[in-house]
Amino acid sequence: MESPIVISSSNSSERDSSPESDQEGVNNNKRKRLEDEEGDLNVSKRRSEEPLVRVKQKIMFVDETATDDSDLKSKSCEDVEVIKENKDKTKDEDNNKAGTKDDESEEEEEAWEVEEIIDYQYCRESEEGLYQVKWINWGQEHNTWEPEAHLECKDMLVEFYKMRLKEREGATPAEKRALELPPDPRESFQIRQDFIREHCPPPSKKELQAMFIKEQKLAIHKRAKVIPEKMMNAAVDQLAKSSKPNDKKLAWIREQLKIRELHRVRGQQIEDLKKYEKEINEIDPHAFVSILNDADLEGPPRQMQYINAYKASDGINIPDDPFIGCECENCELKCEKTCCGGVAGFQFAYTKHSKLRIDVGQPIYECNKRCACGPECTNRVVQKGRKHKLQIYRTDNGCGWGVRAMENIRAGSFVVEYVGEVITSDEAEERGKKYDAEGRTYLFDLDFNLGDENLYTVDAAFYGNCSHFINHSCDPNLNIFNVYINNLDPNMPQLCLFARREIKRGEQISFDYCQSTGNVNSQDLIASPLKKVKDTEEKERPECRCGSANCRKVLF
Ligand SMILES: [Zn+2]
Ligand SMILES: [Zn+2]
Ligand SMILES: [Zn+2]
Ligand SMILES: [Zn+2]
Repeated sequence: MESPIVISSSNSSERDSSPESDQEGVNNNKRKRLEDEEGDLNVSKRRSEEPLVRVKQKIMFVDETATDDSDLKSKSCEDVEVIKENKDKTKDEDNNKAGTKDDESEEEEEAWEVEEIIDYQYCRESEEGLYQVKWINWGQEHNTWEPEAHLECKDMLVEFYKMRLKEREGATPAEKRALELPPDPRESFQIRQDFIREHCPPPSKKELQAMFIKEQKLAIHKRAKVIPEKMMNAAVDQLAKSSKPNDKKLAWIREQLKIRELHRVRGQQIEDLKKYEKEINEIDPHAFVSILNDADLEGPPRQMQYINAYKASDGINIPDDPFIGCECENCELKCEKTCCGGVAGFQFAYTKHSKLRIDVGQPIYECNKRCACGPECTNRVVQKGRKHKLQIYRTDNGCGWGVRAMENIRAGSFVVEYVGEVITSDEAEERGKKYDAEGRTYLFDLDFNLGDENLYTVDAAFYGNCSHFINHSCDPNLNIFNVYINNLDPNMPQLCLFARREIKRGEQISFDYCQSTGNVNSQDLIASPLKKVKDTEEKERPECRCGSANCRKVLF
């Protein structure tokens, strides 16, 4: 067992029933020990000179055959010697193991598990009660005496306490002295809790956040470690029963509690993020979307419900029955005029490698369920889902969550669809007034037919997919396109993000929140998403932090 330095005086045990003569013997022993300790800091040297365990025998305090006090006492005196040696031995071993390190946080936790609490004695020398412990997988000769703070088995202590209470019922005074009653362990637990409550206010979220960010910058081996529970308990117990304040120790306890809390919060956060990651990949089972937050303690973004396609708001119907399809044998550039796009008066959108071949502002008409072609048709891209692994991650420059590519993406590739709740423009007007600047950036007008008043708006504030987390850039690597598949309502295109240029693995993906998706033939090039807030006063305009050379400095 390791012996925390905070209770380094607890090296021996004695009975408070010892008479003067025995006291003396114990005191002499104590003096001797102190000399040893003072005069010899080099533990290994002492070990070679002096055997540490002089008496190898089963430690047995309670002699049931004893009929009078003196018999009991003399036995106890001899036992004290054994106990002391055993404790010193374990302590020395630990000191040896730890080398010259004296930092309390450097000690390593060992897996010693309590099998049974055998006995309890009050040690006057160290002024604390000690429990005799039988350890799992260790013989009785390895039993040790431990202060309560060392023991994490509160249930066993309570059990022992109850048993001892029972044993003492009807016992003679002499027997009672042998069967010492420990303080109710439930009380000491309470005292510890009370002390912590009074002197160690729990760290605020902000404090933990600051600590986390500081720690993240350190190499892993330099980060603060959680010291074993029992060392904490011992330190708290020592302060709780001491009458003189010890600011240094208190500060150390507070720091430790903070580290503990940080570890707990971080552990919970990682677990929550994993759970969220699993959930969203079940909802959107295409290329994997991972979640990572090494920047702060923010948990999963649960204020938004994850969806994989438009969600119709009350009173809105999203058509799914196209009135027309193409009859091409093989949908390709050759039959551009008669394929879906051509019939609508537009170009064929894709190369044979499923990359865009049209300019921004042109709509995409993919083949639909009425078309004669099969699922392998090159004019079916968005409908097959995302192909590139992405990651929702916490940015470290104050831009909240962002999204990055987890593989290289070629220019013209479909990356992700912008989905959300489809609401009427009137509703969007209302919501826009209530939303703060951040909320408003999730409103995206479906305004393909520029010039006409748009009928619908997509609101991704509370329903969305990973596109919800894509940040704005004034020099984005994604473009937005209007896509029609099975819903041919010109006022309700799907909004799809395509790579504007080659995107490298690890690069953050972005689009211009102010990019118009409208027909390029129209005059009004700045339309979506924020016609709603054009009248917003200057002071309310959110600042752009995209960092690109041509940054407009404000979002809208
Ligand atoms: Zn086709
Ligand atoms: Zn076709
Ligand atoms: Zn078609
Ligand atoms: Zn910018």
